Amino acid sequence: MKISADLHIHSTLSPCGALEMSPSAIVNRAKELNLDVISVTDHNSMENCFYASSIGEKFGVKVIYGMEAQTLEDVHILCYFEKMKEAEIFYSDIYNYLPSIKNRPDYFGDQVVVDEDDNIVRVEEKLLFNSIDLSISELVDRVRSYNGYVVPAHIESEQFGLMRNLGFIVEELKNCIFEISYNADREKVLAKYPELDNFSLISNSDAHYIRDIGRVYTIYDVKTPVIEEIYKAGLEGRFEVK
Ligand SMILES: [Zn+2]
Ligand SMILES: [Zn+2]
Repeated sequence: MKISADLHIHSTLSPCGALEMSPSAIVNRAKELNLDVISVTDHNSMENCFYASSIGEKFGVKVIYGMEAQTLEDVHILCYFEKMKEAEIFYSDIYNYLPSIKNRPDYFGDQVVVDEDDNIVRVEEKLLFNSIDLSISELVDRVRSYNGYVVPAHIESEQFGLMRNLGFIVEELKNCIFEISYNADREKVLAKYPELDNFSLISNSDAHYIRDIGRVYTIYDVKTPVIEEIYKAGLEGRFEVK
């Protein structure tokens, strides 16, 4: 079956995510747009995606547990998990590698955990928009040890993109699918980075506001909407960016 997936959406927990981006508002909008699968991928954090997932179950929108991690090299890597337990262990592991720098909400924005009913659960004090003390290779090893999948995010982007900030594809990423920015032109990206020609380039919205959810998404041909199958479809070219 063909499924529409937007696997890069920020919530209220990202300092840069708008306060309208509660888990329920995100799932509602995804439902309106007929997206079958989404992922809430906050910076170095996952708490809101657990709420989004339980809301998604009620609405018939599959929510994959996700995070947008920022490595030591200042590169953004999307990390996905099928199982809640593995996602939880991964998240509490990663949190220890985040520097103990306090968020300044007036400067960076609020970092709010919001439950299924739009109640504020807690405010995250540690600044999430920061690099964790793990290299790309160390992060990728960790994600895989918890049966997760990685997708380097907006790889051509000037800010936190793999090709800009590192300039090459490390060994651990050679069997990956890659995300190009929602507004990137695939042909221009390939002209600039011909080494990407043999890789699968998918795209997501990277939404920080409700109106941006689904502005770009990817259709995958899968048997069941689980991350293992979606990833495999990506690797095997059974996808189309919309
Ligand atoms: Zn990013
Ligand atoms: Zn992002």
